[in-house]
Amino acid sequence: MAGFKFRKFKKSLVLIFVLTFFIACEQEEVNTAFKESEKKFTWRMVTTWPKNYPGVGLAAENISKLVNKMSAGRLQIKVYGSGELVPALEVFDAVSRGTVEIGHGASYYWIGKAPSAQFFTALPFGLNAQEMNAWLHYGGGLELWEEAYDKFNLIPLAGGNTGVQMAGWFNKEINSLEDIKGTRMRIPGLAGKVWTEAGGEAVLMPGSEIFTNLQTGVIDAAEWIGPYNDQTFGLHQAAKYYYYPGWHEPGPTLEVIINKEAFASLPSDLQEIVRTASRAVNQDMLDEYTARNNQALETLVNTHGVILKRLPEDVLKKFKEITSKLLEELIVEDPLSKRIFESQENFKKNVSEYHKISEKAVYEMRELN
Ligand code: CA
Repeated sequence: MAGFKFRKFKKSLVLIFVLTFFIACEQEEVNTAFKESEKKFTWRMVTTWPKNYPGVGLAAENISKLVNKMSAGRLQIKVYGSGELVPALEVFDAVSRGTVEIGHGASYYWIGKAPSAQFFTALPFGLNAQEMNAWLHYGGGLELWEEAYDKFNLIPLAGGNTGVQMAGWFNKEINSLEDIKGTRMRIPGLAGKVWTEAGGEAVLMPGSEIFTNLQTGVIDAAEWIGPYNDQTFGLHQAAKYYYYPGWHEPGPTLEVIINKEAFASLPSDLQEIVRTASRAVNQDMLDEYTARNNQALETLVNTHGVILKRLPEDVLKKFKEITSKLLEELIVEDPLSKRIFESQENFKKNVSEYHKISEKAVYEMRELN
């Protein structure tokens, strides 16, 4: 009887020990998860825009603010304007090397490093903002972008869209292809190559340098964004002719680039917060430009006497022809560019069919008297 009691007592002891052990383990897991959720991260974001610049620059600030709020301060991102930490055109390398964790800019600044980067900002005569967003998020575009940036140790996300841009500011009239000859223009990416092929001379420089170079005659023309942003740079004080349509950038996407190791070091909820904040700002920026562009254009024309002009039909046709030729060359040289180009082209054809009887038909319908 006594032996039975002792065995029962021993059994209870073992049970208590085992239970205590499991409770301790569970507590340890809870502690680890708690510590993980309490861990704070401080990131630095370098950008290709001047500090606090309206629109594009504030998009970077807005991502930072949103991430901070959504994560209750667990991930803080300090934003640096161009030249504060690194020059505008070194943003890509700084994030790629891991000097900083995150960057904000435009992918077509990097076509010298990755030719396919062109497709993720805008293609001349290509997708508009609505179509770019649809291609990136529902048409396989983002996956192709991830593939293109993989070897640079970068994760890309869409981080803003300006909508259709303006063709740019000119110090002389463009009445024919002859007028392009010898014209030095600030125009990045593939469109710059088109400009050069058409007889002009393309120059790449960050936005902050446009005004001085245009005013002093270092360049004869410059494209930047559209009325809202161009007005803030005072470009109307440096050139009087303002041309449309934005053949070169029908719906340019801005990019968020994240160093892969930095991203991997975040817990999954913070990773999702970075993705969600970028996606929200991507759309928010388009909303802001849609709301502000026409108001700014009215001020430019009515108050500042800017002369608004349309590029001649034959000039646009020539640009289109050269674009097709250069794209053919690009996709022969670079297999990844070929896949991206085909994906985008197929998407454009597909979407355009419906947009003919929806978006386009609605625009036409609204013109009826
Ligand atoms: Ca532009």
